[in-house]
Amino acid sequence: MTPAPAPDATAAAEATASPDATATSDALAATGSTAAAAPPRLRLATAWLAGCSGCHMSFLDLDELLFVLAERVELVYSPVASDIKTYPEAVDICLVEGAVANTANLELALQLRARTALVISFGDCAVTANVPGLRNLLNREGRGGAAAVLQRSYVDLADGSGRHPHAPGLVPELLDQVWPLHAVIPVDLYLPGCPPSAERIAATLLPLLEGQRPIQAGPAMLRFG
Ligand code: SF4
Repeated sequence: MTPAPAPDATAAAEATASPDATATSDALAATGSTAAAAPPRLRLATAWLAGCSGCHMSFLDLDELLFVLAERVELVYSPVASDIKTYPEAVDICLVEGAVANTANLELALQLRARTALVISFGDCAVTANVPGLRNLLNREGRGGAAAVLQRSYVDLADGSGRHPHAPGLVPELLDQVWPLHAVIPVDLYLPGCPPSAERIAATLLPLLEGQRPIQAGPAMLRFG
């Protein structure tokens, strides 16, 4: 696979709107109060690739706004909210946490892209590879790859007789390089942060519920870390 050239994530996410938690809460509440007149619920998914789950925990920090969201969206796939194993068809929006580090991550990324109208790179690991990408340091000048990572982790640093873990078909194989999401599939929106705050998540989802593209600008929306 030849990854696509990595776009400038910050440039890709230009715009405005400093998310104010209270204003966002009020706006979402107002959105929920008019649900009867609202268009059909959007089909929302969240996916978890090579990440720590922190971005999903921040999603759960929406707290009471989750109830409002529940009135406006149908959560069709999520590792924290359902036990559905197969990514469904015809998804409107997907928040994708994590980098692409192994064959299972890559397979899910390609599948969700094919089945989703709007893909959001959710958190710094998805946007830049971030923490999972640190192992790329062992892959210098095109040498090393997954073998170097396994050697370092399971043999060089082993207390006793280390050996490479290998369970074909059971454990996904590591890719030689960890990629940000946009390097393997086209991404529609970037939501940086480690993790993105609940306010930032709400400020992104709220306009989408109204069929509008969120306006992102300034450190409140675009700061990494
Ligand atoms: S961006 Fe941060 S919080 Fe989110 S998965 Fe990566 S390390 Fe965890």
